[in-house]
Amino acid sequence: MTADDIGASAEPLTAIFRRLIGTYGPLSLLHYMGESNARYYADKDPLGTAGDFITAPEISQMFGELVGLWLADVWMRAGSPVPVHYVELGPGRGTLARDALRTMKRVGLDPQVHFVESSRALKALQAQAVPQAQWHDDLGTVPTDAPLLVVGNEFLDALPVRQLVRTAKGWRERMVDWAEDRFRPVAGEKPMDAAVPGVLADAEEGTLLETCPGAAAVMQELSGRLAAQGGAALLIDYGYAEPQTGSTLQALRAHTKVDPFTAPGEADLTCLVDFAVLAEIAVKEGATWQGTVTQGAFLRALGIDLRAAKLAAAAPHHADTIQRAKDRLISDEQMGSLFKVMGVSGPQWPQGAGF
Ligand code: SAH
Repeated sequence: MTADDIGASAEPLTAIFRRLIGTYGPLSLLHYMGESNARYYADKDPLGTAGDFITAPEISQMFGELVGLWLADVWMRAGSPVPVHYVELGPGRGTLARDALRTMKRVGLDPQVHFVESSRALKALQAQAVPQAQWHDDLGTVPTDAPLLVVGNEFLDALPVRQLVRTAKGWRERMVDWAEDRFRPVAGEKPMDAAVPGVLADAEEGTLLETCPGAAAVMQELSGRLAAQGGAALLIDYGYAEPQTGSTLQALRAHTKVDPFTAPGEADLTCLVDFAVLAEIAVKEGATWQGTVTQGAFLRALGIDLRAAKLAAAAPHHADTIQRAKDRLISDEQMGSLFKVMGVSGPQWPQGAGF
């Protein structure tokens, strides 16, 4: 049986959710989003122009190259320790890793490669791009013997969130119900006031608080590892650097925003990443938070203008395409401001460029 057969024969998620809701009542949004994305990513490649969304490494090789240079630079200034592990969280098609590893190799950095990935379909593509990689279900099995050079691009935004909403009766968890032939968000029955910071106890009705337990868990483990083993990490995602309230849940299908409560498992569900909370966790675990900056500022500081000029000089007939790709990555109207880059490292490791 191939992955395609499994995907095709699986019971539609809508039917499963309806049955669960019929038996147990509304599902938590956390459950709904987690199951939907597990199904969504399991058996298909959602990336690229023919897919549902496109990511920075798929826009231009410059992205992976500059990430590779950043890691190589901190590694050299840390004394070029060997062995060293390159770890990527949710590597997609393996494009970022391939571009980063090629750049690292030019300066003498040839790490062992570890991919944390759950999707069967994407693992197969990753094996073509980076044949020497080893795969892991989570960080737990990544080696503990040497420093880690970690990258996660658009990984944390796919992890499920819990939403709490202030109702007239106090704080409640946001649940998903089935009514009038569709899924809809509703406030749960159970009081959740104890789960909300004291300052928000009397927040205005309708105030919504979003948290991502999965992202917090990954950050905790990663930071503990960096503190103990040394190394550095770049986490890149669309998100916010200062605390905020409100729902950021959205669904993307064929490059268009769609209703997250229609056709679960068939669109990519994402939320903005709360980088403020992640930085707090990193510090608590003994790692150094190097900073959180916009993707545009980060790539400019690493010399994307020069890199684009060089590529254009080498392939003048592609100069326009290269310029457009660069604009897409760094301009404020496109990915430049909404996307953030957070740097974290072991306490003995040097501060990287751009922070
Ligand atoms: N980093 C890639 C892909 C981003 S899409 C790029 O920038 O192009 C999100 C990636 O995370 C996919 O590879 C997806 O399969 C993986 N992923 C999502 N949830 C995951 C989970 N819970 N555990 C492991 N991998 C996950």
